[in-house]
Amino acid sequence: MFGVIMTWIMLICVIIGLLFIGRVIQSEDQKSQLSQLHQTTELWAETFSVRLNSDLDRLSQLQNALPVNLNFSQGIDRLQHQARDLMQSRREILEINYIDSNNRVVAAFASPLPFGDITFKAGDIYNREGTASAILRTKRTGSSSFSAPYSLPIEGSPFIDLVSPAQIAQTRYLQITRLSIWSLLRHATQNRQDSAYRISLLYNDKAIVAASTDSRRQSITHRMHLAPLPTSFELQVSSYAQGLLTQNTLFWVISALGIFLVVALLGLIRFNWRQNSTETALRAESALRKTIADSQLSGLQVTDRKGRIVYTNRTFEELLDIKDHEKLLGQLPPYSYWPQGDAGFRLMELFETIKRGQINSASYEFRPIRSDGSSFNAFLHISPMITVEGTHLGWLWTISDITEIRQAQERVTAAHERFTRVLESMQDAISVVDPQSDILLFSNSVYDSLFGDDSLGHMQAHEELINQLGDKAKDAPDISADIYIEKMDRWFALHERIITWTDRTAVRLQILSDITERRKSENLLAEQQARSEQNSRLVTMGEMASSLAHELNQPLTAISNYAFIVGSMMKKAGVPEEHEMFYSVSRIEAQAQRAAGIIQRIRSFTKRSEPKMESIPVMNLVKEVKELASIQARRHNAKIQYYVAPDLTTVWCDEIMIEQVLLNLIKNGIEASAGIEGQKPEVSLTIYSDIDHHVIFEVADNGCGIDDEHKAHLFDPFFTTKSSGMGMGLNICRTIVELHHGRLTISDNIGRGTIFTLTLPSEKKQTD
Ligand code: ADP
Repeated sequence: MFGVIMTWIMLICVIIGLLFIGRVIQSEDQKSQLSQLHQTTELWAETFSVRLNSDLDRLSQLQNALPVNLNFSQGIDRLQHQARDLMQSRREILEINYIDSNNRVVAAFASPLPFGDITFKAGDIYNREGTASAILRTKRTGSSSFSAPYSLPIEGSPFIDLVSPAQIAQTRYLQITRLSIWSLLRHATQNRQDSAYRISLLYNDKAIVAASTDSRRQSITHRMHLAPLPTSFELQVSSYAQGLLTQNTLFWVISALGIFLVVALLGLIRFNWRQNSTETALRAESALRKTIADSQLSGLQVTDRKGRIVYTNRTFEELLDIKDHEKLLGQLPPYSYWPQGDAGFRLMELFETIKRGQINSASYEFRPIRSDGSSFNAFLHISPMITVEGTHLGWLWTISDITEIRQAQERVTAAHERFTRVLESMQDAISVVDPQSDILLFSNSVYDSLFGDDSLGHMQAHEELINQLGDKAKDAPDISADIYIEKMDRWFALHERIITWTDRTAVRLQILSDITERRKSENLLAEQQARSEQNSRLVTMGEMASSLAHELNQPLTAISNYAFIVGSMMKKAGVPEEHEMFYSVSRIEAQAQRAAGIIQRIRSFTKRSEPKMESIPVMNLVKEVKELASIQARRHNAKIQYYVAPDLTTVWCDEIMIEQVLLNLIKNGIEASAGIEGQKPEVSLTIYSDIDHHVIFEVADNGCGIDDEHKAHLFDPFFTTKSSGMGMGLNICRTIVELHHGRLTISDNIGRGTIFTLTLPSEKKQTD
């Protein structure tokens, strides 16, 4: 900056100097012009005077040279010759007149040269106005005198008359000589009517011979008296002030030098300015670099190729708590802040490896030692410093304090661990899937154990949800429903939500809670409720049956009694015992008792009393069933076949109850078979025992068979497919079988129809 200011000052000084020099040159120049003008004017005035004086001498000599003895006419002749000679040599003398005391012209001689002419002839009175006073003066003084200047029509040039006393043939005359002032001036100035000078002749300060002047140009003027003319005649010479810029070579040389100097100085200023700006920019950049280096959160250490420390930034020194910066500079590895032992050794090894060029750069975690002996977790990165030209200058060591990062990492890890533990401890299957790519982003162990480590389970559950809730659920951000996954035979409460994932994308979180058990217990509860409803209906029905039994008991007893009385009366009447009436009466009595028994059973059944278990001969059982079933068979024109295994003799049961069961199964078989057109209903009862001595009753029909759907509900109370059915038959059958600790199962008959299989435990087992 100082340089620039100095250069500017120099430039201003140079300009002022140049102006001063210009001014000095100009004033000197004017002085010299003035003196030149004076000299020239003096020279010309002098020349003018010399000429005029010479003219005066020659003119006075004209008549003085005349011989004294000549008469007037001889004298005039001689004068004429001499005057002509004189005028021949002096151009300014144009006319010579001689006048007598009366001013009459006695002789007039004209110059032979152009413009020479006589203005007065001999005999004329010389009456020129301007000359009159001069004539008088000469007459009075006897010496020469000049007239006022005048001009003639023939020629504009101013003339002057010289009046001198003359003597011709002893007579006094006056000699009047007309002189051309113009010619005199031309002679004096040697025709110097150039542009440099302007010559004028002044008479009483009025120009009688004037030069044209250029008023725009400044001029210097000098006046001088022209002796021997009267003082009223003055020569005025003007000279135009010389143009400083036009004529002065010195000025131009200096100006050129000055311009050169100014240009050079301007160049210098420009150069200085540029240098300054470059320097400022460099300084700013270097300051910026230093600030950047110092503001770095990482410590920077620059070493030469050998590892000698040449620079460290402020952060580096702050990190390592370095008090004496100078001590650090120049250190070679191992540096003072390196840890001792293994860690230091490994650092040394690392640097050696880099130095050898085996690796280009390296990173390392270690614990540097501060000057107070404390240490911290640091991350070190060593990288080469290579210039644009490819020269390897050294190494840049970047050290960052990662204590906080480590702590934060640990906190994150701990938080993640807690989070994972919570998720893992949950019994729900949690999964996150990117809906764009269907990639499983997260899953907990419950999910993995249920569906594996891909997104298939998630997708399947999602599809199930969409199927259930419809397409509108696709865009819903938060949906939930209970779904059933058939493949797993499990129920899940599914909750889906769109959440923002760590990479800011929208992902689908799915929580699947297994609710199979809950569902089961709910179903069980529902079943129990249904059952209790049925039970209450059963109880009502039982009560009805009980009161019905009570009501029917007496008429049935009466029927039995009456039948007995009819038998007694028939005996008394002498009806032979073989008479079939006795058989009928006994059947009436027996059936009445049986009906009473059934009613009793129903009563006791509704009271849930235990069956009356006995060892019943199989054939008795079959006989009883056959008899009762035949009534049904006849009604439907059905055929009933009975097969009893020969080895089977007895069965341990409540006879009436089992008969009820068998009758009900046969009745159902007949009704199922009878509904099919074009076939005779056929039902068979097969009784046999297995290895475990279970007694098995199989009732098979060729009926319509039973749907799988119906099979599950067959034993439900009041389940019937018949318009007039009560739906209690099979339910009572099952209750009876359960009371016998037996089993009643259904299977499809070969060809067509159904087989009901009643299995009763062996007698031995039951007694156990
Ligand atoms: P109900 O005979 O009054 O309908 P049941 O409890 O005896 O009541 O039978 C219940 C239902 O079981 C019947 O309505 C019938 O649909 C079905 N069922 C029972 N046995 C058979 C069979 N052998 N073949 C086809 N369906 C049968």
